[in-house]
Amino acid sequence: MTVDVTKPYDPDNIFAKILRGEIPSKKVYEDEWSYAFYDINAQAKTHILIVPKGAYVSWDDFSTKASAEEIAGFVRAVGKVARDSDLVEPGYRLLANVGHHAGQEVPHLHVHLFGGEPLGPMIAR
Ligand code: AMP
Repeated sequence: MTVDVTKPYDPDNIFAKILRGEIPSKKVYEDEWSYAFYDINAQAKTHILIVPKGAYVSWDDFSTKASAEEIAGFVRAVGKVARDSDLVEPGYRLLANVGHHAGQEVPHLHVHLFGGEPLGPMIAR
């Protein structure tokens, strides 16, 4: 089921549970603002999810309500994870699904980081 991003944040969503350490994840990076871990169903050779530690449903929610510090911290974390994964020179793709048309399934903002191989067309239908 896809996420209705107009609904309030659900603290029992799976990424909230990962952030609280209630379910396992394969950690890639963590700092004050962000947590990164491997996607359980990789769609590319490298497929990492980066989430803000704050309770935000989607990019819409985050870009509206997050503080400047949270936004800067999260954006820098996404760039650092890509750099630390040696993806800058070969290139990589970032993706944030928002709501029904994008197929967002988890109601906690996450950026997908894809890389490690040529990634094909921008949108698959
Ligand atoms: P989205 O469709 O953008 O909401 O993407 C949700 C992503 O979360 C999918 O790529 C799933 O494979 C991934 N995912 C779901 N549960 C887990 C989990 N427990 N650990 C890691 N990745 C997960």
